Amino acid sequence: MIGTELLPCPFCGGTASYTGAAVRCNNFACNTIMTPRWTKDVVGSAKGGPDVRFALAKADCTRRWNQRAELAPGIAEAAKVLLDACPNPVFDHLKPVLMGEVTETIEYTDEDGEEASYKRSVSWTAMKQIITLALRALSEGRA
Ligand SMILES: [Zn+2]
Repeated sequence: MIGTELLPCPFCGGTASYTGAAVRCNNFACNTIMTPRWTKDVVGSAKGGPDVRFALAKADCTRRWNQRAELAPGIAEAAKVLLDACPNPVFDHLKPVLMGEVTETIEYTDEDGEEASYKRSVSWTAMKQIITLALRALSEGRA
């Protein structure tokens, strides 16, 4: 028998329930959802009718939801370690790898009234802020 016990939401700790074969966090503010994979690997080999295929997709979704919930504390812990190592040595390691690698497109209207654009590198200061915010969100379980 395939277990259908759902672990709490990895993002907010709220209870989860099924919406069809999908799993949804019951916390309205969080509302995380994991949709089933109706792939050949999951349901294509099923002998039987739609009910059997539905049960297989639901079981696969349950397994993936619970796997993510179990991994979440490890990710949060790793992010906390990295955040504690900011700015250094984390930024010392990342700067030579990331500098110039991320660009953004700036759109403007040129002197002839035509829409134009150019690309510019995202500043290292902005990238440090993004990295720090991402690690903070992960360490607090918000991402
Ligand atoms: Zn949640």
